[in-house]
Amino acid sequence: MSSVIQAYRFALDPAPVQEQALRSHCGARRRAFNWGLARIKANLDQRAAEMTYGLVEDELTPSVSWSAYSLRKDWNQAKDEVAPWWAENSKEAYSCGLANLATALGNWADSQRGKRNGRRFGFPRFKGRRSGLSCRFTTGAFGLADDRRHVKLPRIGLVRTHESTRRLARHVERGTARIRSATVSFRAGRWFVSFSVEITRTDPLPTRPGSVVGVDLGVKSLAVLSTGESIPNPRHLETALRELRRLQRQAARRTGPDRRIRRQPSARWRKTQARVTRLHTTVVNARRDGLHKLTTRLVRAHGAVVIEDLNVAGMTRNRRLARHVAGVGMAELRRQIEYKAQWAGARVHVADRWYPSSKTCSACGVVKAKLRLSERTLCCDACGLVLDRDLNAARNLAALVPRETSSPSCGATVNEPAGNPGKTRTARATGTATGRPAPVGAGQRRRRKATAV
Ligand SMILES: [Zn+2]
Repeated sequence: MSSVIQAYRFALDPAPVQEQALRSHCGARRRAFNWGLARIKANLDQRAAEMTYGLVEDELTPSVSWSAYSLRKDWNQAKDEVAPWWAENSKEAYSCGLANLATALGNWADSQRGKRNGRRFGFPRFKGRRSGLSCRFTTGAFGLADDRRHVKLPRIGLVRTHESTRRLARHVERGTARIRSATVSFRAGRWFVSFSVEITRTDPLPTRPGSVVGVDLGVKSLAVLSTGESIPNPRHLETALRELRRLQRQAARRTGPDRRIRRQPSARWRKTQARVTRLHTTVVNARRDGLHKLTTRLVRAHGAVVIEDLNVAGMTRNRRLARHVAGVGMAELRRQIEYKAQWAGARVHVADRWYPSSKTCSACGVVKAKLRLSERTLCCDACGLVLDRDLNAARNLAALVPRETSSPSCGATVNEPAGNPGKTRTARATGTATGRPAPVGAGQRRRRKATAV
């Protein structure tokens, strides 16, 4: 039994009047965000300008605090003037926008000071009309209705859900779940509510706690397991591409928007675009469903799962791989394995990014100097083993973790396995040596933008 934070998302079927209210709340959040951002930006610009005149700290315009608390305080003083219609929406809508702004500014400041990993953050940008619609409620009357077919939202009232809320309602009635917040959002033509829930989970322990499974992710097969099983790649995106091309040709024949001459798109063009969106949503849902089934099965059956530390961001920058990698959802697969393993009490090991899992012989441990991506089988010169390339890699991954180890190293990175000289640290051009795609920087000089459909 473990207490975790989990999201429950339900599609909504709001009445027209409620949909209007949902839009209004999302707009209110945007108004508060933009108001706060303009205020902070003006203050920062003013101080920067004064500093160029050589003024010292005491003589500068005092800085405005961007904590969520003071932003909210300032908003309450200014709202009559800035948004005379403020009473139409729940106060949560404004608080949400200001809290998001405080987070964004905090992230930006941390990034400037080098306190954050990853790419540098830019200064927060104003939210335009096309920015995603969403709004979060953290206090007030929200939750599930007793009939299990409606949700309660502050100000908006009882909104019909598209499906039954039973799976969450049972937890709430039993007292094993507490709803912390509700976020409404508009995605692909439909409204959703997502509840953040603190939940006490009782997951079954792995059926074979001593078993270790290595998972080699790929594009040809979605995954090859060290047990010898190969999970085929369903290629949802490839299947949909034909229809997608047809729809995009159809859209090209219709009157689309043109910003230069301020032309509004035609109703027929909009209709086609809605179909494109729906097709993408179908692909996303099918992919997610398959990944969930696979990852649940893995952590339920095995005591330890070993995966590779794939550089997914780098691979999607390679234009030949991008669509295929994005079509598999490798990063999502890893994310799901990691959190589900924690729930199920299984261990996850992430092999080092440069560990030569494909080039190592899983029988004798000899590392081949070169193995082309086109070579689908590994033929070992030392012991004469002939084995499918991906299965060999999966077995090597599984071998990184000794069976029945006691160290509960969840998500730990396993570096150099015993008896394995890590020698692959030299030239790695695309398609050679490592058996996996090139790291960031290699082979991406030609074109920076890859088309990840
Ligand atoms: Zn061998």
